[in-house]
Amino acid sequence: MPSSTSLELIEKLISFDTTSRESNLELISFIGDYLSGLGIESQLVHSEEGNKANLYATVGDLDKPGVMLSGHTDVVPVDGQDWNTDPFEVVEKGNKLYGRGTSDMKSFIAITLAMLPRFMERGLETPLHLAFSYDEEIGCIGVRRLIDKLNGMPIKPAMCIVGEPTSMQVITGHKGKRSYIGHVHGFEAHSSLAPDAVNAIEFAARFIANLRAIAERIQSEGPHDELYDVSHTTVHTGVISGGTQLNIVPKDCCFEFEFRYIGIQDPSELEEEIRAYARDELELAMQAIRPGTGIDIELVNDIPGLEMDVDDDVVTFVKALAGRNDHAKVAFGTEAGLFKECAGIPTVVCGPGSIEQAHKPHEFITMEQVSAGEKFMERLMDQVCAN
Ligand SMILES: [Zn+2]
Repeated sequence: MPSSTSLELIEKLISFDTTSRESNLELISFIGDYLSGLGIESQLVHSEEGNKANLYATVGDLDKPGVMLSGHTDVVPVDGQDWNTDPFEVVEKGNKLYGRGTSDMKSFIAITLAMLPRFMERGLETPLHLAFSYDEEIGCIGVRRLIDKLNGMPIKPAMCIVGEPTSMQVITGHKGKRSYIGHVHGFEAHSSLAPDAVNAIEFAARFIANLRAIAERIQSEGPHDELYDVSHTTVHTGVISGGTQLNIVPKDCCFEFEFRYIGIQDPSELEEEIRAYARDELELAMQAIRPGTGIDIELVNDIPGLEMDVDDDVVTFVKALAGRNDHAKVAFGTEAGLFKECAGIPTVVCGPGSIEQAHKPHEFITMEQVSAGEKFMERLMDQVCAN
């Protein structure tokens, strides 16, 4: 059975509606107050608009690099989902706790907070750093400001554990993601004069067909990494719009596409291949009909993947905490890649709850997973505390 403190804190954190579009400041100030009650000072790194914040705190010696425990405080929307309980009120039923964020990923934060007094009683030889972010669910936006701050600090954390729901599996890799908006600027005409016009939809179609051909090539030729369920980089178009009426040759077409890449694929090379096709094939053909037409490709978001050497200290360390020897890679993105690539902090992902339950109606965490999270923290205590 998990401790009552963990359960109370899970309940409390779930009660704040921190859907990414909302402010997370009430939750952050609750955590700040809780920490200051323990004599721990926390620092906030606000969003540009000031309505959200990351929280960073160090427990123990400020002059030593320690172990960073990291989690995001925002959750995905419940809009349009069929919940039969209030998603922002924890309901316990059949050994499960239901509520938005129970798995992804407020329970990890709650367990961390609940265990802190015990870490402090035993006395920390190696400090713990807490890093709680905002706007993870909309593209790992918020944590980037926290990383800027980490990069400015004289002493950085020695390692980081991102407590996303992995059912306590040790995750050494996740795919990176780049997303784009393509905008084809064609030239309009009456559809009876089609040869004199530049049909934006048709050029978008050629662009997208090329994306599809690249996707198929990668699928058959690789590179492959068998630790992933989908063992290769994927390329996909998800949204398209263009045209106004059938008898007008359309001058605009916009579409969104992404690639989710494995560690051994260079995303910049892939991007250059896509841009080169647009420039050397499509734009040349478009401009032969009408100068001034063309294709803009805008990089919208770039989330680096995580690729940890399985012999790295952080991997061995976290395997010991999780009480297991295996490791895996996951398809979903996390902030781990950013900590590793942008702050240079060796990072793995390991936390209670299952990604199967995340983002869905009736999200839950089992009591067993909460207990496993506590056990993980107890082993961490044995590692970082004096006695
Ligand atoms: Zn998450």
